[in-house]
Parts: sequence; C-alpha cells; structure tokens
Amino acid sequence: MLIVKKFGGSSVANKERIENVARRVAEDYKNGNKVVVVLSAMGDTTDELLEKAYEINPDAPKREIDMLLACGEQTSVALMAMALSKMGLPAISLNAFQVAMHTTSKYGNARFKRIDSERITNELESGKIVIVTGFQGVNKYDDITTLGRGGSDTTAVALAAALRADACEIYTDVEGVYTADPRMVDKAHKMKEISYDEMLELATLGAKVLHNRSVELAKKYGVQLVVRSSLTEAEGTIVKEVTKVEGMLVSGVAVDKEAVRIALVGVENKPGIAFKIFDLLAKHNVNVDVILQSIGRDDTKDISFTVDQTQAKEAMALLRENQERLTIQKIEEEVNVAKLSVVGAGMQTHAGVAAKMFEALYDVGVNIRMIATSEIRITVLIDLEDVQVATKAVHAKFLED
Ligand code: ADP
Ligand code: ASP
Ligand code: MG
Repeated sequence: MLIVKKFGGSSVANKERIENVARRVAEDYKNGNKVVVVLSAMGDTTDELLEKAYEINPDAPKREIDMLLACGEQTSVALMAMALSKMGLPAISLNAFQVAMHTTSKYGNARFKRIDSERITNELESGKIVIVTGFQGVNKYDDITTLGRGGSDTTAVALAAALRADACEIYTDVEGVYTADPRMVDKAHKMKEISYDEMLELATLGAKVLHNRSVELAKKYGVQLVVRSSLTEAEGTIVKEVTKVEGMLVSGVAVDKEAVRIALVGVENKPGIAFKIFDLLAKHNVNVDVILQSIGRDDTKDISFTVDQTQAKEAMALLRENQERLTIQKIEEEVNVAKLSVVGAGMQTHAGVAAKMFEALYDVGVNIRMIATSEIRITVLIDLEDVQVATKAVHAKFLED
C-alpha cells in the first residue's frame, strides 16, 4: 500500500512528539508499505515567524512572508528524517521545490496547479520513507508560495491524488471530526463518517480541523480521508462521498471568529451598483460571505457583508479607492462579530431548521445580526461576545438528546 500520512503542528511540537510520529511511520514502513509523510511546522512556529515578520515590517512584502513561513515546515521535515534515520530507517526530506509542487502565483494563498510525482516515486522505489513539507509550493517565477493557514492538509490530499495513494490519513490533536469544536462544546461527539460536501461547508465556515481546499481536492479526485489523533489509537472520522447516516437534520456546528463585517452606508439605489461592488472584490479574489442589503435614507441603500479577517484590509483599501465611483457615502468595518453555522445534508429535504436554530438563539437571548443560507447550511452573524453561549445552545438543540 502507498500511504500518505499528514501530521499537524501540535503532533510535531517537540522532540518527544517528533519521535512519536517517527514510531507511527516506522510501523507502517516495516509492514511493507510505501510511506509519504507530510508535516506542518512545529507547534506555534508559523505564528511566531509571522510575529517576527511584522515586528520588522508591518507591511512586509507577501513574497518575503512566504519565504519566511516556508522555513517552519522545512525544519520539521528535516528533523523527522533525522529521527527516522536514528531508528535505522532510510528517510529523505523534500521541500516543495525539490518535489516540484507547482502553484498559482498568489503569495499567502496559492493553489496547487500540478505536482511532479517523479522524484517522490523514485525515492519510494529505492525504499525510502519520503517526508514532504506541507503548506508550501512553487510558482511560475520559481518563488516559494504558501497555501493559506492550515494548508498542509491540502498538500497531503494533493500528494495522495498525484501518487494515487491507497490511503490518506490526517493526524491531529483531536480524535476526529466532531459535531462542534470539542474545545468549545464539551458535549460535542465524534462522527464516524461525514460526506465531502458537509465537511467542505464545516471547514469553510470555521471548523479548522481540515483546510477547506483539502476537502475540495479530496472530493474532486475521490481521495477518501481519515482524520484521527496522533496520540491515541482511536478510530477517527472518515470523510468520503456518501455516508450511511440517515435522518440527521444537522451534522455539525461551526464557528468562525475571524469574520469581519463591512458596511457600505448610503449607496445609490440604482441597478448595477451591487454588481460593481462585488465584481471589484471578486476580481481581487476577496471572498464575500453573508450579504445583507437594506433600505437606507433618501433613496439610498445600505449593503453589508462579511469577509475573512485575512482579507479585510485588502477589501477596505479597494472600497476606499473606489468609494466615489461606487457611490458609497460611508464605509464601516466591525471586527467583534462571529459567524455561527449549522451544516447538514438533511436540511435539503426538511423544513424548519432555520426556525429551530433561531429559537435556540432566542432561548439564550442572542441577537441575530445577519443571516445566510444555502442548501445545506444556515449561518448567522452574531456578536463575538455571544459566541460561546450561542454555540452551546445551538449544539444542544440539534445534536444532544
Ligand atoms: P493541526 O495542527 O493538526 O492541523 P488544527 O489546529 O489545524 O490541527 O486543527 C485541529 C483543531 O481543530 C482541534 O484542536 C479543534 O480545536 C479544532 N476544531 C474545530 N472544529 C472542529 C470539529 N468540528 N471537529 C474537530 N476539531 C475541530
Ligand atoms: N504551518 C501552517 C499553519 O500554521 C500550515 C499548517 O499547519 O497546516 O497554518
Ligand atoms: Mg490544521
């Protein structure tokens, strides 16, 4: 079997953890499998590197940020190869450049375009355990790019697809995918399995257990994933096309505390304005989520929407540059908000999910600021300070007896 095993930052946070991973990898190798290991940076390394960057220059060039962040993953793969080598096992570490993992050019948020599998295949053929840096790629300028926070999951899935691996295992610091972040909701329970579509929604809406693009790729290439703990032998959660679980209205609750609300006040009330606003943002790859339009004063309208914290600065700058052309009287930004979502394939065929969610929020006195829905999710924007009580209440309503 060819197995791709990805270990996140906390799974390789120190010497003991690295040795623990090395033992798990060694076991598969000794059982006759070909093993490709994908690693994140150790512990909080990525955050620490970012802090260093912004200390030197708050407007650090994105290219240089990627150059810096890539060091984190490079450290862990080299150390892992050393740990395996100490155990007498043949191992080789490779960075994105050495593999040749080609991405789009966008620093800080690149996407995979193509992966050359030759180098890895050759190393595997010669009997080596191959350890690859997660989170990074190379663009057409031969520069290092990164895939966005949490992107190592995507590296693992992309490699599994490119190598046609028999298994893709994502090891983390919890035992699988839960009905809510187990660190926020103590009654959250582990799912046996979840569909790609539901997992994609949960990941996109804030459940950081998987990078959303990894789920997108897994679905596209039919890579079945298992999410499990690097510290226990517990079974984990399978992410795949269809799941057996029937009759579940809601499969999980997700929270995104990094949402920013942008409000455009006093926009001219005529056709084409909304198009121009969102077209501008789209052309710059700014992802917009919950959108609300309301009637303002004197035949104007107000438009508000949410963007991710990482894109708020860019969005605000774009809107300010174009404020006059877009007929916006005032632009406001609010950070103390959070998105709370329920996700479930079951809601496609069942009425009343929204009402039930709103009731749960009403019961605990939480005010809803904005609402968005799709076939399989309902999202509300609430005040950041309400997040804990709201999440527990919604989880209790749908997912506890
Ligand atoms: P890694 O470093 O292994 O990639 P992450 O921190 O990126 O780990 O993701 C794991 C974390 O995701 C968990 O510690 C947990 O707090 C959080 N999380 C959020 N939502 C969920 C969920 N529904 N199920 C499991 N974990 C979740
Ligand atoms: N080290 C990167 C991050 O912290 C990538 C990852 O962990 O997946 O975001
Ligand atoms: Mg992660």
